[in-house]
This record gives sequence, structure tokens and C-alpha cells, in this order.
Amino acid sequence: MPLQTDAVDLFTWNNSYARLPERFFARVRPAPVGAPRLIRVNEKLATELGLDPDALLTPTGLETLAGNLVPENGEPIAMAYAGHQFGHFVPRLGDGRAILLGEILDGDNKRCDIQLKGAGRTPYSRGGDGRAALGPVLREYIVSEAMSALGIPTTRALAAVTTGETVWRETPLPGAVLTRVASSHIRIGTFQYFAARGDAEAIRILADYVISRHYPECVDSPNRYRALLDAIIRQQAELIARWMLVGFIHGVMNTDNVSVAGETIDYGPCAFMDAYNPAMVYSSIDSVGRYAFSNQPRIAQWNLARMAETLLDLLADADDARIKEAEAAVEKFSAQFESAWAAGLRQKLGLFEDHSGDLKLAQDLLDCMSRNNADFTLTFRGLCDARVSGDNDQALRTLFANPGDLNEWLERWRKRLAEEDCDINARRQAMRAANPLFIPRNHLVEQAIAAAVDSGDFQPFETLLSVLSRPHEDQPEFSSHALPPRAEQIVQQTFCGT
Ligand code: AMP
Ligand code: MG
Repeated sequence: MPLQTDAVDLFTWNNSYARLPERFFARVRPAPVGAPRLIRVNEKLATELGLDPDALLTPTGLETLAGNLVPENGEPIAMAYAGHQFGHFVPRLGDGRAILLGEILDGDNKRCDIQLKGAGRTPYSRGGDGRAALGPVLREYIVSEAMSALGIPTTRALAAVTTGETVWRETPLPGAVLTRVASSHIRIGTFQYFAARGDAEAIRILADYVISRHYPECVDSPNRYRALLDAIIRQQAELIARWMLVGFIHGVMNTDNVSVAGETIDYGPCAFMDAYNPAMVYSSIDSVGRYAFSNQPRIAQWNLARMAETLLDLLADADDARIKEAEAAVEKFSAQFESAWAAGLRQKLGLFEDHSGDLKLAQDLLDCMSRNNADFTLTFRGLCDARVSGDNDQALRTLFANPGDLNEWLERWRKRLAEEDCDINARRQAMRAANPLFIPRNHLVEQAIAAAVDSGDFQPFETLLSVLSRPHEDQPEFSSHALPPRAEQIVQQTFCGT
């Protein structure tokens, strides 16, 4: 039974989504769990959000984070959305295992959603149990926090608890609840939900809401809805480039997993690549490689075309003019992505100026890495020290199956560096800031999950989180966390864990 109390004010709610028409969501309370135990509160994030970390650590905090206690003035809701899953449209998805507790204003007065993931069944659960298993909760915690430390827009993990209950997947697993923070949970699929119902009024209300919450600068634009579409597209172009610059593969870029605020959301079978391979796929459910590493820009653009379709009626009065507006907006994605990708690669190579052959130079390195099974992260990190003389080339070359294959490229790169007048140390610092040493390597994530699930040992999880919170710093005591997997440690597949 949920406890009855408002003894501790954990959150000062400032809800806006729950003010939208009732057809946008379902009002639903989290389902209580038997024996909640705290795994962790992200105290640093709590403080940044203007919350009291100590209050979250109290018994009342625990009961709230487990969904056993709904704060007295809370208005929990499950949001409605639809989505294209692997290209197939599903008109009704929605929060089937997540419940939005409410919104708060953070320390900078920025609006944030506080959501419990794994909080029980909702009207959108379909055949699901509304629950989350411990493994996927830890995976999302680790990877989303790692992404944040890498400076990539993402939802955050505020807390995780175990429920003391078993969830049944292929095997019985310990249950858990993640408290997720997002600048909002509005997805392309949220727009599609109303478009599929021909609910033009709802689309306009939602578009106005997204403008005021995420893109207020669009209000002054002559066509605010075209400006909104442009802004969403720009954010996605930058986001996908940022992912790819650290070797991230989202794994399930369905339109219901694309945040219109431009944050990475819904960490399922995601993974960071070890060896560079543009065709890399980890997800067990992605049999044709739809969401392979190098396919991500194309899929993002496809998703954005679906977004544009939902806004058609708002873009112009005449049919052909609407379609022209939508096409023009979606077309801009390619150039925006290419430009963000090229700028990011230049940074990774330590190039401050924009010369015409730079993208080719970067692509040739990627091709060489791919031919030689070279580790993506360590190759770029190795370049930071190899920037001037050949002294450090040996370490770099050993990352390549045929070490000599890199020689010609290194020579070209050095020639290109010499075209710029730049202080050696400034360049090294800039390169280190663009090339992390620590990423959430799949085998480390799996080890941390296995220790927690199989033996109740959360230390590897804690250590990994700590190392990943400073991804660009050398941490000699954790140097083994920077290493690629040994052959027997390689993770071939990741699972969505729903
Ligand atoms: P995801 O794979 O997390 O993107 O989820 C796709 C859809 O399935 C969303 O509508 C989820 O809410 C729903 N879903 C996933 N897992 C569960 C579950 N265990 N119970 C109910 N609904 C779920
Ligand atoms: Mg999802």
C-alpha cells in the first residue's frame, strides 16, 4: 500500500504537461513494490536540479523513488505517443512502463521532467508488465551519465532502486526502477499519435507547447511552425554527429525514441564501438542493420521526414506549398549533419582551421581503422600524443592489425598540422578534450551488470560510474577501464531488455 504522507518535500512541482488536454495522457499512479532498496542517488545531479540530495536518501525518498509514495500534490501521468518501430507505424504506444511524476524548475529555472521508469502498468502497457529489470536500469544509468559527461545532450539518471520483486523475461530477474530526468519526454511519436487520429487541434497545441518549452525563439519567426521544424532538425543533426564522434550506436532509433528537444533518449540495446566498423550493429533485434553505426544520419533524416509530415497543415495554406516547406526543411539535415561531423572530426584530429581536404583526411583514417580493426577511442586518443614527432607512433601503430598501414596517413596528417601555426600544448589539450579516454565499453557495462544481478555487488557499477564521470582525464589507477575487450570479453550483442 502506498504510504500516506507529505512529510518531506522532495520536489516542488511546476507541472505544465498535465495542464494540456486530457487526451494527451492518462492519469495513473505508480504501482507499489514489495521491498524497495536504494541502489544510488545521483547526489551531484540532485544538487544541480535544486533538489535536496539528503531528502532523497531518507525512507520517504526511497518510497517515492520506488513509486510507493506519490507526493501529496503530485499529478502522475503516462504520456500518449505513437511511433514507427523499425519502419512500421504503431498508432498507439505511450508510456507503458514509465510514469511522469511531474516537472520541476532546476537551479537555472529550466523545466525538467521527473519520470519513474519501471513503475508499473499504465493504459499504454499493452501486453507488458510495466516493470523494468535491474540490468537495463543499470545500463541506462551508466550510459546516460557517461553521455552527459562526454557533453552530449541526454536524459539523466537521478536515482535507481531495486524493487524486491521478480520480473519475468526469458528468466526471472530482479526488478528495479530508474528515476529519469529529461528536458521533456516529448517524442516525434507524440506528434504522430495525434496526426494518426487526424487531431489537428492537438497537433497545434502540442507544437505551441514545444515551442514555448524548448524553442521559444521560434515565436518571433514569420512561420513559427517551420521554425520549430528547422530547430528540431538542427538539434538532431548535431546530436547524431556528436554520437558518431564518440562511436555511439543508439540501436533503436524508432520515432518514438526520438526526443524533439534533441536529447538522447531511451537507452536500450545501445553500445559504443570498440574497433571501428561503420556497419557495426549490436542490437539483437536489428537483424538488417537498419540502425547500424553509419546508417544513423540516414535514419535520423527519415525520422525527421515523419516529424515534418505531422506538421504539414501548419506549414502553409496550400497543399503544394506545405510539401515544399517540409521537403526544404528535411533536406537541410544532410548539410547540417555533414558540417557538424566534419567540424567534430577536425577537432579530433587537432585541426583548428578548415581546409578543403580535411574531411578526406579524416575519412582515410577511418578507412584505415576499419581495414585494421583498430580501436576507435584509443586511436583518436593516441593521436593526441603523436601530434608532433614520431616518438609516440609505435603505441598508436600497435592498435592496427597491420601497423605499417598507418604510416602514410600519419605523414599526411603531420603535413596538414604543419600548415597551421599552433602551440603544441594548446593543440594537445584541445585534442584531449575532443578525444575521451574512457567510454562505457560494452564488456565493462556487462561486468558491472552481472556483478549486481548475480551477486548483489554494486561496486563495479559504482567504480565504472566514477571513472566515466571524467572521461577525458587520465586516471592511471583505472587504466584497465580504458582497454578494449580481450577476445573472450567481446560483447557481440546487446538486448533491449523490455
Ligand atoms: P522501448 O523499447 O523502450 O522504446 O518501448 C517501446 C514501447 O513498449 C513503449 O510504448 C514502452 O512503454 C513499451 N514497453 C516496453 N517495455 C514495457 C513493459 N515491460 N511493460 C509495458 N510496456 C512496455
Ligand atoms: Mg522507447
